[in-house]
Amino acid sequence: MPFSVLFLTLSVIYAMVKRSSIQQDMNSTCFICSISSVEFQRIAKKGFEDHVKYDHNIWQYLFFLVHLKTKDRTEYTGPESYVSECLKESNYSFFPVNRALCLRQGESDENERLEKLEEVAQMLLQKVNGMEEHIEKLTELQSRSRSNSLMLSPM
Ligand SMILES: [Zn+2]
Repeated sequence: MPFSVLFLTLSVIYAMVKRSSIQQDMNSTCFICSISSVEFQRIAKKGFEDHVKYDHNIWQYLFFLVHLKTKDRTEYTGPESYVSECLKESNYSFFPVNRALCLRQGESDENERLEKLEEVAQMLLQKVNGMEEHIEKLTELQSRSRSNSLMLSPM
């Protein structure tokens, strides 16, 4: 299929999607990773609109697939060869379903928080251990001084 025809076809699809209920779904869920807009508003710094416009732009994905179809195989770059091989084997794992890099930031923040909490817990545990040793020593000293005072006391 010549590129101009492909471009026209894609433009028609784009116009249809713009007017259909698919567009409504696309306003609440990312078409590429299927993650809901709520998740992006909650975790990602730039939000859902930025995500579907720049990270997972459906039209860029579509044009990339068209680009693969129209490009000479011998001129493929590494990523192009990889995706092309995946497509040949009907392997769609390259599609980031339920994955988005901008949400990873949230994950790493969460992991950092957990690490800090673990550090604090570890520090508290050490302090408690130190206090236990202190109490043991005090108890020992107390019992020693009691027995000393018993020995010294006159009968
Ligand atoms: Zn997405």
